[in-house]
Amino acid sequence: MSNIAERKPHAVLVPVPLQGHINPLFKLAKLLHSRGFHITFVHTDYNHKRYLKSRGPNALRGLPDFRFETIPDGLPPLNDDSDGDVSQHIPSLCDSIRNNFLQPFRQLLAKLNHSATTGLNPPVTCLLSDCFMSFPIQVAQELSVPIILLSPVSAGTFLCFMHFRYLVDKGIVPLKDESYLTNGYLDTTKVECIPGLNNFRMRDLPSYVKTADPNDFMLEYFIEVAGRVPTVSAIVFNTFDELERDAMNALSSMLPSLCTIGPFPSFLDQIPNNHLASLGSNLWNEDPKCLQWLQSQEPRSVVYVNFGSITVMSADQLLEFAWGLANSKKPFLWIIRPDLVIGGSVILSSDFVNETRDRSLIAGWCPQEQVLNHSSVGGFLTHCGWNSITESVCAGVPMLCWPFFADQPTNCRYVCNEWEIGIEIDTNVKREEVEKLVNELMVGEKGKKMRKKTMYLKKKAEEFTKPGGRSYMNLDKVIKEVLLKQT
Ligand code: UDP
Repeated sequence: MSNIAERKPHAVLVPVPLQGHINPLFKLAKLLHSRGFHITFVHTDYNHKRYLKSRGPNALRGLPDFRFETIPDGLPPLNDDSDGDVSQHIPSLCDSIRNNFLQPFRQLLAKLNHSATTGLNPPVTCLLSDCFMSFPIQVAQELSVPIILLSPVSAGTFLCFMHFRYLVDKGIVPLKDESYLTNGYLDTTKVECIPGLNNFRMRDLPSYVKTADPNDFMLEYFIEVAGRVPTVSAIVFNTFDELERDAMNALSSMLPSLCTIGPFPSFLDQIPNNHLASLGSNLWNEDPKCLQWLQSQEPRSVVYVNFGSITVMSADQLLEFAWGLANSKKPFLWIIRPDLVIGGSVILSSDFVNETRDRSLIAGWCPQEQVLNHSSVGGFLTHCGWNSITESVCAGVPMLCWPFFADQPTNCRYVCNEWEIGIEIDTNVKREEVEKLVNELMVGEKGKKMRKKTMYLKKKAEEFTKPGGRSYMNLDKVIKEVLLKQT
């Protein structure tokens, strides 16, 4: 190892091993690498295997100063041929994170520090972790190195998450009984006890608080993790102040050191000579046909449909989307993961195939950011994952929103009501509504207004992430004052 490499700060980054959590932390790893850090990115053994399967055997070799390591996820062994599996089951995964990740992670850091003594890598100088895990905080304390948490969710969602205990203490959560889940209470009741949330209803809160079970595992998990958040060196957000000023202000009054350093897609676009530009973090195999097919379509004519990596739906719901898209007469690119439909694979009728053959493409996974930035894409039908929203904003593409669970209802509220860059589709999706809203999005007056607002936010995102912009300067500050600070 050269003298220069020896002097490099060494950041170890560990995400919750789910696609929507890996991607933003991976982007942060690239940003830090561009600022001179030696990077170790930690996958689980299982995701490592999937990553190699989709990217090729050399993918994890990275660069001399951008390396990958793995730890076991402690989950039952997998069937090699299956794409859907227990590692996507959030309560099982969180249970395993809580019980099984600490020791292997500790050992990994001991190994990295040991190999530093023989010059193979610099000693570990800081940790960066997903905010939904607490074991890295413990390890950072043991090693006396700074730790920064990245919120893979919006500031608004994080604000809700930091109030879960408060909602329990006030007797609002758990809900009084199961009927509260179904009798409209969640639709209409205003949440007035969380400063920073504007006109929020119970139904807009992250789904984890919508439980009537006092022993709900996920609620308890989040409360425990939130309790440790104030002990870390800093918390950073993949968002920007223009988008989430109120939520950030409210959070600033609760937590000592936090800042916006996003949105990452715009930030990464602006890295000069980015050697890592082609190094992706998708665990699924991206179908190259998607971009080829978009080349053959008219500008802004295509509806891009993708429900992310975890959302599932019933076969009936899939059919409603299918016929809504078919009847809209608009071209569409639809990503249907092999495990998207609950209880089995998708069979779309020959009528549907004949009707849409000339103006559609269905694939299992795509390079989403490239798709959203393709000039043929005019609208995005999304489940409202936070990455999807930031990617859509950075591409200037307005949305139709069908939130499913977790932070998606919260994101949907912001997209449709605060920023007015999306329209919500009813949970009980019907083909007539899909047809109508797709047309509204693509050629209607409301669609035009939403596109204009999204383009405005795209420009703002670029301003915030270019040199001298607020997010850019925040990243500089957090690197200098936290990550490079000698403890
Ligand atoms: N993604 C992708 N191709 C796909 C589907 C998803 O590249 O076909 C990426 C997408 O760009 C995003 C992430 O996977 O970065 C999904 O994260 P998000 O927060 O939107 O949703 P989640 O999967 O966590 O529900």
